[in-house]
Amino acid sequence: MESKLAGAHLTIDLAALKANYRLLARTAAPAECAAAVKANAYGLGIERVGPALFEAGCRRFFVALPAEGITLRKLLPDAKIHILAGLLPETEPAYLEYRLDPVLNSLNDLRLWADFATRRGPLPALLHLDTGMTRLGLLETDIRRLAADPALLENIEVEFVMSHLSCADDADNPMNRQQLERLRHFRALLPEKLKNTPVSFANSAGIFLGPEYHFDMVRPGIALYGGNPHAGAPNPMQEVVRLRGRILQVQDVDSESPVGYGATFRTGEPSRIASVSVGYADGYFRALGNKAECAIKDIKVPVVGRVSMDIITIDVSTVPEGDCQVGGFVDLIGGAVPLDELAAHADTIPYEILTSLGSRYYREYLEGTG
Ligand SMILES: *Cc1c(COP(=O)(O)O)cnc(C)c1O
Repeated sequence: MESKLAGAHLTIDLAALKANYRLLARTAAPAECAAAVKANAYGLGIERVGPALFEAGCRRFFVALPAEGITLRKLLPDAKIHILAGLLPETEPAYLEYRLDPVLNSLNDLRLWADFATRRGPLPALLHLDTGMTRLGLLETDIRRLAADPALLENIEVEFVMSHLSCADDADNPMNRQQLERLRHFRALLPEKLKNTPVSFANSAGIFLGPEYHFDMVRPGIALYGGNPHAGAPNPMQEVVRLRGRILQVQDVDSESPVGYGATFRTGEPSRIASVSVGYADGYFRALGNKAECAIKDIKVPVVGRVSMDIITIDVSTVPEGDCQVGGFVDLIGGAVPLDELAAHADTIPYEILTSLGSRYYREYLEGTG
């Protein structure tokens, strides 16, 4: 799409993405640094993000689903690709064909893969232990059952034993240490064959909990894409995503002028209101109405009234008229409008903002030099 035909421009800085990968890899070293690239690389586009991370040195990738793994395999013939969902029914041959390693989340997954491996193996896999999420992974009773029946593992090469932290973004949460202790306890219960298998535990936030949490391999996602891995502390990551919307119209209005659907906002004084070409159909959440801020040349301006499907209205009374012209751009994400701040205004997390980024944007990727 030609840039002038779009209402908003999304810029994805691949140099910043690579710099973030290198910072995380340095912080986690000597543990290996993998990358979580599920959901189309958190909405940023797997076609460009996958190869850029590979160039930065990443050799191991996590996606949610086998279909995502197949897309990634075509982009990265030499990468290790792990499927977090485990095995979906009757997908074993696809895993083999595209060299996708399932994360075995249950004894049922293990039995299916073992059965397939007896005929086609030996086959690689990761084994997921649930240390406190009650979501995916083996619980203590499952681990004890596995220890009593180690023949299940005969044709499976478990590359990593892994678990996932539920509260790592809150460094002081006692859940972090409880999960760490449970992981050590579970490891000791594993069959002899798996007692010295390498371990993976930390997501982005887990990396910053310290070396005890690193083990042999870490799996950052959001921090690669510029999200703050610690709630309430300065963000050490570089900004990757920038979103700018175009001004469609500027109106000078009196006080008491109603703005937008439902007339939920009325100007308190004579004001200048600009309409910008982005809306909830683009992933600019409706919850941001009367809450979020945008910026023009680093001057913060409030979103007033509801977010429409294709349009938001902002109060630009404080912006010099010359900086606020039809066809000009307003910063929606990035620069003076940090991703984490926008997420907080929508009562959500940066993950949801990124994975909801719309398909109508003109997308531009900035190439890195490194
Ligand atoms: C998504 C995911 C990650 C990455 O988490 P971030 O918080 O984005 O760093 C790591 N491990 C698992 C199991 C995941 O599902």
